[in-house]
Amino acid sequence: MKAAQLVAPGRVRVVQAEPPAPAAGQVLVKILACGVCGSDLNAWRGVTGIEYPLPLGAPGHEVWGEVAALGSGVADEALGLGRKVTGLVQGGYAQYALARTDELLALPPPIADQVVLGEPLACAANVVRRTRWAPGERVAMVGFGYIAALVVGLLFPAGKGSWVAISRRPESRALALRMGAAAVYPFDAVPPDLWDSFPVVVEAAGVQQSLDCATWLTGHGGRLVVAGYHADGPRTVDMRTWNWKGIDVVNAHERQPAAYMRGLRDGLCAVAERGLDFAALISHRWPLERLGEALAMADSRPADYTKGVVLPWSG
Ligand SMILES: [Zn+2]
Repeated sequence: MKAAQLVAPGRVRVVQAEPPAPAAGQVLVKILACGVCGSDLNAWRGVTGIEYPLPLGAPGHEVWGEVAALGSGVADEALGLGRKVTGLVQGGYAQYALARTDELLALPPPIADQVVLGEPLACAANVVRRTRWAPGERVAMVGFGYIAALVVGLLFPAGKGSWVAISRRPESRALALRMGAAAVYPFDAVPPDLWDSFPVVVEAAGVQQSLDCATWLTGHGGRLVVAGYHADGPRTVDMRTWNWKGIDVVNAHERQPAAYMRGLRDGLCAVAERGLDFAALISHRWPLERLGEALAMADSRPADYTKGVVLPWSG
């Protein structure tokens, strides 16, 4: 099989390797698509603590594929040969990777052939659950990238909803309007009458500015839900304002496999039952040989970029 390997920050090579053999309780997944995730960029840029070369296919983890071989003792009807699956899979920047049967779900028939990147869908479904959103509650999205778009798609499947988006990028604001936002603003033009007015605010950019803006927008007794990935260092928080407004601050990143799988089940159900299709959010597709360009583009995020996927069997 072909597999990509990050050999140093900013350097990818593609190698030939034997596909791994599934052990008991595992299946071999033929990777049809693997999303390029913001969390991959630490390895691409090179932060301290990461050792190179990375394992084959790492850090790809947003996998959509089909079952190619079963390990011993795997008798799960749902995970039969050829079934389309998604779930928690590491080593996704390769033509094959292994997965545990309890960390994989078959796509239900109505969406069996839809490109579904399970890991970000699970993240978004977990964020949705932890907003404890009730019908009628206004929502502010602070930051509007791929995960925020999934969250809104799950919260407001009918399109138009009573939500606004705050984003630095004009094209993200345009995407939010297409998805039904009642209004969109850049950070420096949020009308002051919106401050303290939202019962639910989702912070989805993972930077200090978005955390501060989310704090201002949250109403008294409201919920500030942190969906952004704040992995690059400490933040300061406006504790006085949090105190004063008595808000609930929810860290909606789930890292436990069981929580991920719960989110994935919820997300797949919603997608299948409501006829959602998030494939339209994929703006760029790359063959495995061009993974370096895919990561560089995820890092620079040009105007037309929303989400990239690598297709290990194309090209
Ligand atoms: Zn991811």
